[in-house]
Amino acid sequence: LSARLAELKDLPTETVDKVRIGLSANIEFPYETESCLERGADGIGLYRTEFLYLSSSEEPSEEDHYEAYSQVVREMNGRPVVIRTLDLGADKMGHRPLAEQEHNPFLGLRSIRLSLKNLDLFRPQLRAVLRAAVHGDVRVMFPLITTIAELRQARMLLNVVAEDLSESGIPYRSDIPVGMMVEVPAAVIMLDHFVKEIDFLSIGTNDLAQYTLAVDRSNEYVADLYQSCDPAVLRLIATSVKIADANHTPLAVCGEMSSNPGRALLLIGLGVRNLSVPPSSLHRVKKAIRSVTLKQCTQIAERVMTFDSARDVDLYLQDRLSDLV
Ligand code: PEP
Ligand code: MG
Repeated sequence: LSARLAELKDLPTETVDKVRIGLSANIEFPYETESCLERGADGIGLYRTEFLYLSSSEEPSEEDHYEAYSQVVREMNGRPVVIRTLDLGADKMGHRPLAEQEHNPFLGLRSIRLSLKNLDLFRPQLRAVLRAAVHGDVRVMFPLITTIAELRQARMLLNVVAEDLSESGIPYRSDIPVGMMVEVPAAVIMLDHFVKEIDFLSIGTNDLAQYTLAVDRSNEYVADLYQSCDPAVLRLIATSVKIADANHTPLAVCGEMSSNPGRALLLIGLGVRNLSVPPSSLHRVKKAIRSVTLKQCTQIAERVMTFDSARDVDLYLQDRLSDLV
């Protein structure tokens, strides 16, 4: 790391007029905590635990989960760690075929749906999360929540495994914050109900764009339609922020969108105060935030919300970024 970047590490992530922005990191493997700490991340905003499945030839046991999570939590040394439960299926397949061959895997048995149908996968993971929570500030987050019933089922299961741990005398913590990803339009539409049953929200712009625009995010034939700055997606983000704020529910954005400096400023202008980005983007995003005032971000957002195409949004953001940063 260059000297200038090392210096940036210890400076707060705040705008010129001192509005503090939480800047956390997205990780897939425990070894990544080192680069997060080196770059001054406030915490882990998204730990994609399915990579435990994708990186080994055998199915991970509860102990494997526990060891991986404990390592991350210990190394982050009191900083928050948001552990997202398994997001397998569709583009992220595990070892054994967990579902029949599906015609539309992105609309199929993936993510929380798959976990809720395969409790032999889900329970060991939830037990490991609660056990690892003894070592630091652990928060659990459920992916792809579409209905309130799914959220309630997942929360109930968390309570059941806590009781099991308690009966077996295994050390654990159960009073941890429970969050959900906002990445399906239905969740945004019903968000005023969800916020009553959840401790925090994190917008997954990768899937939110995919499901809002009806574009498979991995299909090259429709890649030009896959735009996280599509005005339809931006409206859903703006709506989510308003509902979260009205209910005092903490909200972050952890999709790839937040790692683009211009888009990060737009999100701040829309009212987002917590971003989670890949470790390699931490510096870039922090530098952009430290170059602008909140007013400038708000003006960017006001202008952007008048546009009717992703192309106009992106061109404008590039333009503003080169002026400001
Ligand atoms: C997202 O969908 O934006 C997200 C952060 O999750 P993933 O990319 O792992 O689906
Ligand atoms: Mg997602």
